[in-house]
Amino acid sequence: MTFLILQSVRKRYGHITALDGVDLEVTAGSRTAIVGPSGCGKTTLLRVTAGFELPDTGCLMLDGAVLTDARTAVPAHQRGIGFVAQDGGLFPHLNIADNVGFGIHRQEPGRTKRIAELMAMVELPLVLLRRKPHELSGGQQQRVALARALARRPRLMLLDEPFSALDTELRTATRKAVANLLDAAGMTTILVTHDHAEALSFADQVAVMREGAFLQVGSPHELYLRPRTATIATSLGEAIVLPAELSHGWAECELGRIAVDEPNRFGKAQIMLRPEQISLKPTSGGEPSSESGTAFCRVAEIDFAGAVYTIALQLLTDGAGPRVRDVPQAMGRLLLRQSSPLMPSEGTTVQILVAGKAHVLAS
Ligand code: ATP
Repeated sequence: MTFLILQSVRKRYGHITALDGVDLEVTAGSRTAIVGPSGCGKTTLLRVTAGFELPDTGCLMLDGAVLTDARTAVPAHQRGIGFVAQDGGLFPHLNIADNVGFGIHRQEPGRTKRIAELMAMVELPLVLLRRKPHELSGGQQQRVALARALARRPRLMLLDEPFSALDTELRTATRKAVANLLDAAGMTTILVTHDHAEALSFADQVAVMREGAFLQVGSPHELYLRPRTATIATSLGEAIVLPAELSHGWAECELGRIAVDEPNRFGKAQIMLRPEQISLKPTSGGEPSSESGTAFCRVAEIDFAGAVYTIALQLLTDGAGPRVRDVPQAMGRLLLRQSSPLMPSEGTTVQILVAGKAHVLAS
């Protein structure tokens, strides 16, 4: 069931267009991640949804009721929407108990018990309740901010880069804990992040944003494996994008002849491979066979970093299998990140092997 609907939402600040016609549908109980570079409008979108800002035009509906349109603007405190800001936004002069209990009236019966329940939900010990925010770690502060947002039992939770200040390990652990907590509460959530891995692992639905609008919205798998454009592809991870000539389900490109996921596309197009689709087969010393379907490369440089290494490959132009004459060479060097056990030596020749099919980009 669609829970939140945004239709043609626009917002300008003077001559800056922060939101340029955003459409989005969010299913009840689901997790949506919005990923995009700094300044593309992610925070503005959350603030407009929460009711801290009004859009210039457009309509927002939550659970069948209008939040904002040309005639209506439900105030933020009546929307039932929780918001966790980038820095947590805790009140520095209040202790943790009063931060968590900020939205619960002081005279409300059971306030102390509710605060304790919220601390348990975010897996924080009660001994922290008397401390001030600056006496907590970054991860603990984020959990307090989440507890404070949960205190009002919101219908929708908006998380604005809540994990960005945390180091990698704590970030992953906090993200998992938050995801489990929101799942258990069946709470519809929108997460804003710069981090594509975080978006893909956290969400059921991912929206890639650029310059105030969504370029593509879909499941993490769909967006990662079948992005419409090269920009969307690189927004969600490393991608090898190549010009190619398509026919009957195959692409002729700089890496040789590769199967593609669109058998009915013909002629010139761009194709995309994820680096993990590529493996390197050592040649046994002799000349590379020109009958082979994929390209041969010389290992130009290796940067060893433990579990993975980055390898720079120089495409061989002679004896490298079929070439596409009228396609300009897009990459003299191909950079890949591979795992270490099968690391070739610098100066050796390897053949590129491709697992699965290349994806044909729409443009
Ligand atoms: P970041 O990832 O850096 O937080 P963002 O994607 O969340 O960026 P927004 O904060 O939504 O981007 O800003 C979108 C655009 O609107 C930016 O160009 C920003 O400078 C501008 N903007 C945001 N708030 C205001 C404001 N109150 N007044 C003027 N311009 C603003």
